[in-house]
Amino acid sequence: MVQFIPGWNDWKWKRRSGELVARCATYKRVLSEFLFMPVGQFFSEPIETMPRGDLDALIDERVRYTVKYAAEHSPFYRNWFRTNSIRPEEIRVHEDLLGLPVISGRTIREHQPPVTTDFEFLSSAWGEVFSIQETSGTSGTPKSFFLTWEDWKRYAEKYARSFVSQGFSEKDRIVVCASYGMNVGANTMTIAAQRIGMGIIPLGKCTFDLRVLKNYKPTAIVGSVFKLLRLFYRLRGEGVKPSDTSITRLVAGGESFADESRAYLAERWGVPVYNTYGSTEGTMCGECTQLAGLHVPEDLVHLDVYDPHRQSFVKDGECGRGILTTLLPVGGKCGTLLLNYDTEDTTVVISREPCRCGRTHMRITNPQREAETIWVGGNPFNRVDIEAAVFQPENMEYLTGEYEAFVYDGDQPNETVLRVSLECFVPDKCDRRLVQEHFIARFLKHKQGLSALYHDGAFPIVFNFTGPGGLEFAKLRGRPKRLVDRRNP
Ligand SMILES: [Zn+2]
Repeated sequence: MVQFIPGWNDWKWKRRSGELVARCATYKRVLSEFLFMPVGQFFSEPIETMPRGDLDALIDERVRYTVKYAAEHSPFYRNWFRTNSIRPEEIRVHEDLLGLPVISGRTIREHQPPVTTDFEFLSSAWGEVFSIQETSGTSGTPKSFFLTWEDWKRYAEKYARSFVSQGFSEKDRIVVCASYGMNVGANTMTIAAQRIGMGIIPLGKCTFDLRVLKNYKPTAIVGSVFKLLRLFYRLRGEGVKPSDTSITRLVAGGESFADESRAYLAERWGVPVYNTYGSTEGTMCGECTQLAGLHVPEDLVHLDVYDPHRQSFVKDGECGRGILTTLLPVGGKCGTLLLNYDTEDTTVVISREPCRCGRTHMRITNPQREAETIWVGGNPFNRVDIEAAVFQPENMEYLTGEYEAFVYDGDQPNETVLRVSLECFVPDKCDRRLVQEHFIARFLKHKQGLSALYHDGAFPIVFNFTGPGGLEFAKLRGRPKRLVDRRNP
């Protein structure tokens, strides 16, 4: 049963001491609780369990309507069809989308003020726009998104399905530690909670006073892996065990994470941790209690996987960038519609076969940000690979889990240095040699090219150990940048 949890096998045979055996036993307990959770709860059962043939027919009907809607209502796509000599009426089935060009976040920025006079992606009348959202622009101007109330209802439907697939019901009360700002995440979850009949505690941040847990007895918390881990340490500092609280599950989202860090968080809290992947563009995918990948709500969003280097779409099981297409139900309206939009997140389609939870919608791996991938001598690695190496069970006796890594030019020609900084509970008591060995073994495990460079001396990995609060990002505001390329371009 546990082969569905990537990395699980590593944990099992890495036990070496009495301490670790106990830890693994805890994992086993936590994981078997996930796997024996009752299945058969659905938010929209007919659509979530629709047989593949019917689902594909529904998707194709929605592709035809969405493309027609785009041609009639989106100034950008009207022009895009014309300049690419695409006849909208010839897009009949979802496979036809594979023959069309791919657009990106940059395309959106280039078709909104100040570059153009109007918002060319706006695909409804201004009077129908209920809210205006923005995605935080890592590169300049934020992208603008216009949502009608219909869009909000569809976004919330996706999260509601995801929550119910994780065992949530009207009996739950959730602390939302995602931000209620210009992105849609926290607000969408709040509307989803209303649809399910759940209670909500909209704190927006994970730095809340611990009386919230004591007085309101929430059953779950939504936040990022690191926020939830810091909350655990804060509880421990106050002498509170997670088992003393009413928390029965955690939902992680907001950024990608390693299976190892998620497993560690689950073990510390003693509850399952489920993943959600959402964006203002409308990807809202969630893991069910089977933890067998994230279900894509295929009737509402179409996802293909694309290899930008080969400029072609890839087969299921191969890694590439998630390419998103909004799907509108026939007669539906939409504020910002996207066809073949590059999410710049990499993923793999795991399966289109029915899941053991009963859902038929396809499952994908936890998407990783392409912006967090660094190439050394033609070999890629992602921030998540660093994280996986940090969170080796043996290391966690000494480490808080907080880390940052930098890539520099070395002193020798063609030499690249990876410097990893790790936060320790007590630097003087940290078994540095053990941590380094486990880090390097895991980091190079599935990376032949990097491993060869490392053993040839062309890719040294050096370590820096700090005490609490000693990492560079601790002095900066905003979301920590944990993998930074400092090579000369
Ligand atoms: Zn499932």
